[in-house]
Amino acid sequence: MRAVLLGPPGAGKGTQAARLAERLNIPTISTGDIFRANVKGDTELGRKAQEYMSAGALVPDQVTNAMVRDRLAQDDVTQGFLLDGYPRNPDQAVELDTLLSDLDVKLDAAIEIIADFDEVMKRLIKRAEIDGRADDTEPVIRKRLEVYATSTAPLTAYYSGRGLLIQVDGIGAVDDVTARLVAAVDGK
Ligand code: ADP
Repeated sequence: MRAVLLGPPGAGKGTQAARLAERLNIPTISTGDIFRANVKGDTELGRKAQEYMSAGALVPDQVTNAMVRDRLAQDDVTQGFLLDGYPRNPDQAVELDTLLSDLDVKLDAAIEIIADFDEVMKRLIKRAEIDGRADDTEPVIRKRLEVYATSTAPLTAYYSGRGLLIQVDGIGAVDDVTARLVAAVDGK
């Protein structure tokens, strides 16, 4: 299975990606995690990404696309993958299509985890208290949600038009959401 996960910050993509990937026995690729690891390791990529991340803005496509291209060329993803956090705008979606077609494979699904603005705001503020993630402050959360609405949300139409969109309700207990995702993906 080759799939992308869509949904606003705070929808539970990271948590659910890990659970779903384990069930499907495929790796997850989280662009946010890769960026954070690079920031932590003070690599060149991390230095390029940091200012955008701390502002809640998208890292430039050129940087992100190159990183994803490298990651998708690795051996562990030949049988499938779950992309969490990419694509995040229409140009990245087109780039992903190119990357996959160069690898001679196809996307099987775009899974959208749906959660409303108030719910994700509440979750992210709570997460900020627990994890202390640098971009989980209220103004930066607002900015990330705005970027999602403007740049990322239009991708649901893009994938729906190709018959790839699966929508899952992200509200409720973590286990219940996982069960919904597994059921939705099983029917694919
Ligand atoms: P969230 O979905 O909670 O905002 P992520 O961990 O997915 O968190 O992303 C954190 C930050 O990493 C984003 O705000 C952005 O700066 C950067 N980032 C992650 N994925 C991408 C991407 N595909 N394109 C550009 N920037 C990205």
